[in-house]
Amino acid sequence: MNTNSLSERINNLSVSQTLAMAAKARELKAQGIDIISLSLGEPDFNTPDFIKEAAKKAIDENYSAYPPVDGYDDLKKAICNKFKRDNNLNYQPSNIVVSTGAKQSLYNIAQVMLNDGDEVILPAPYWVSYAEIIRLSGGVPVEVPTSVDTDFKITAEQLRAVITPKTKMMWFSSPCNPSGSVYSKAELENLVAVLKDFPQIFVVSDEIYEHINYTIDYCSIGSLAGMEDRTITVNGVAKAFAMTGWRIGYIGAPEFIAKACTKLQGQVTSGANSIAQRATIAALEASPEKIQYMVEAFKKRRDLVMQLISEIPGWKVNVPEGAFYAFPDVSSYFGKELKGKKINNATDFSMYLLEHANVATVTGDAFGNPNCIRLSYATSDDLLVNAFTQIKESLV
Ligand code: PMP
Ligand code: GLU
Repeated sequence: MNTNSLSERINNLSVSQTLAMAAKARELKAQGIDIISLSLGEPDFNTPDFIKEAAKKAIDENYSAYPPVDGYDDLKKAICNKFKRDNNLNYQPSNIVVSTGAKQSLYNIAQVMLNDGDEVILPAPYWVSYAEIIRLSGGVPVEVPTSVDTDFKITAEQLRAVITPKTKMMWFSSPCNPSGSVYSKAELENLVAVLKDFPQIFVVSDEIYEHINYTIDYCSIGSLAGMEDRTITVNGVAKAFAMTGWRIGYIGAPEFIAKACTKLQGQVTSGANSIAQRATIAALEASPEKIQYMVEAFKKRRDLVMQLISEIPGWKVNVPEGAFYAFPDVSSYFGKELKGKKINNATDFSMYLLEHANVATVTGDAFGNPNCIRLSYATSDDLLVNAFTQIKESLV
């Protein structure tokens, strides 16, 4: 069989390192090695009962036919109400497209917006799939490095410095996966002041961790003056509602972009799963209070993890204000030897932790920051304590 017959497109695509590390951890577990997986960003809660009930009802009510390609009308209305209620965003149903996860929403956007050579600004660290989705669509990711010392946020000056005539978009997440940083309204206003000088640039605001936000008031960049017509707001139910497997994401976007995404989806998926869409209506119509118990648990674990990290020598960390990741800078270990193994970079360090602490993490390289590793704390307190005890022991 000719295994060289795959397309250049797929040969050039990297595998998702979050999913790859999760698969590796599962493989080692299957061999009987007791791995604690802090690799995949996925709530350890079950989907709340009121959402499951809505799905069961949808099955009984025979929601079994193809749904509209861009989503059920009442779901799109519920999304508009949610955007108004939580984000002060004024979208109409014609601005909304429901997709098979926020990941597909992002892929749709890249496909409908980017021509070959178009530049997309990515404040780094950025979520693992952005760069590959952009490349897959012919775009060129332009990374803007940040560090733990600036809470991994970019400044207006940094943004201005990377804009070129080829800049088409900027993509970012707040709360950020992997750093947990949350941009305040004032910080976003500073970035918007720069963007005002470049009206051709569109912004993708990935707000999938919006509800998992511990400190400051949440601000959607699309709600700021002048940004409504140039922002694509991406969200989904995976994280806040513990619905990763249900695969529902959505966008609010200028109508011409929403229409283009619908056209694309009409050729590739015919729309998102009907039962999951009905369940999503229940999720979005509920008061965010209903999921507060999960947010509270994540916040407690954030505090626990900060305490545990402070006991690990040589790790430097920001205090994440949202999402459920810690992103320590572990570069003080680079160039050193641990148990006879030379640690050259974050990937070596992450592999060392897998082998010697039996803890799965993800290298910061996957997120555009080669000094850090990412740990998801969306797991039980006991496992977190055990994981950090094992990490600490492995580093002496
Ligand atoms: N954006 C970010 C920042 C994420 O962490 C994830 C993780 N899944 C996604 C998008 C994709 O979400 P979904 O599971 O809805 O595809
Ligand atoms: N978003 C999660 C993460 O970053 C899930 C994995 C993925 O979708 O790649 O770990």
